[in-house]
Amino acid sequence: QKKILEVKNLKKYFPTTQKQQLKAVDNVSFDIYEGETLGIVGESGCGKTTCGKTCLGMYPVTDGEVLFHGKNIHSMSKKERFAFTKRVQMIFQDPYASLDPHQKVYDIIAEGIQIHGMAKNKTEEKKMVAELLEMVGLNAEHAARNVHEFSGGQRQRIGIARALSVNPEFLFCDEPISALDVSIQAQIINLLMKLQKEKNLTMLFIAHDLSIVKHISDRIGVMYLGKMVELTESSKLYVEPKHPYTRALLSAVPIADPEASAQKERIMLKGDVPSPVNPPVGCRFAGRCENCMEICRKEEPQMIEIVPGHYVACHLYDEIPGSKGQKADASL
Ligand code: SF4
Repeated sequence: QKKILEVKNLKKYFPTTQKQQLKAVDNVSFDIYEGETLGIVGESGCGKTTCGKTCLGMYPVTDGEVLFHGKNIHSMSKKERFAFTKRVQMIFQDPYASLDPHQKVYDIIAEGIQIHGMAKNKTEEKKMVAELLEMVGLNAEHAARNVHEFSGGQRQRIGIARALSVNPEFLFCDEPISALDVSIQAQIINLLMKLQKEKNLTMLFIAHDLSIVKHISDRIGVMYLGKMVELTESSKLYVEPKHPYTRALLSAVPIADPEASAQKERIMLKGDVPSPVNPPVGCRFAGRCENCMEICRKEEPQMIEIVPGHYVACHLYDEIPGSKGQKADASL
């Protein structure tokens, strides 16, 4: 499978007022393959959005690199950068904040078409806007209205139409449903899944809980305090979570079957997430982990491939034959 995005040992630190550094993303590696959706989950403050934004070039890197089709996105020329902004688009978390309420829907959607010269003339531009509105479940007449006339779910549809207006190949979805009513969330997820299939989009989908990314993601990466702690296929993660943090997150996901739900043991995490300014030595999850061992407070666990395609950073798996001390390379 063709790699679209390669993230290698990515670090993104922010300076704090106390002249320290907030280690938002700390040595994270993963790849995203053509046509797949990679979900990244974790609690707020785990670094998932910073990771996504750095992968899109919205922040400079502190260390490491991000390659898009083999090209380092942080050292692109102006011309390359312009082409990149067409191929990669973003869907924002809060459609109330990301769209100007007084702007006409038409202007929002047509902007990218105009910037990238995608329509031969005004007639074609109008046709493209109408088609985009229909593609996202709205209709052509909505183009003449102002954004403030629309509900949150409809605004997010407008945001999706805007992102798709330049015919991108990669979509970065930054918690695109977390600001919406629960009743609307499934509609937006279904719409994104439909569009992804129709347009063969590659997607990076950020969410704070595992129930949201379950259906949309082919693979899922779990982040904790700036680190990727587990990465595998979505189907495997829900059946055989390996990392104690993933297991705790999954134990909180509601399941439809009442019998199975009653049997399911909820793992309550103790304590709070430590500060990313002074993260603990060794495993960053050690202070909250029910399986914590002596080594965990001394040595940082490396990401290892415990079975093909399933990566975990946890000392519990050090003894798995063939995995001990074997640091996974960036081909995750
Ligand atoms: Fe828990 Fe140790 Fe694994 Fe960290 S390395 S998750 S503390 S068992």
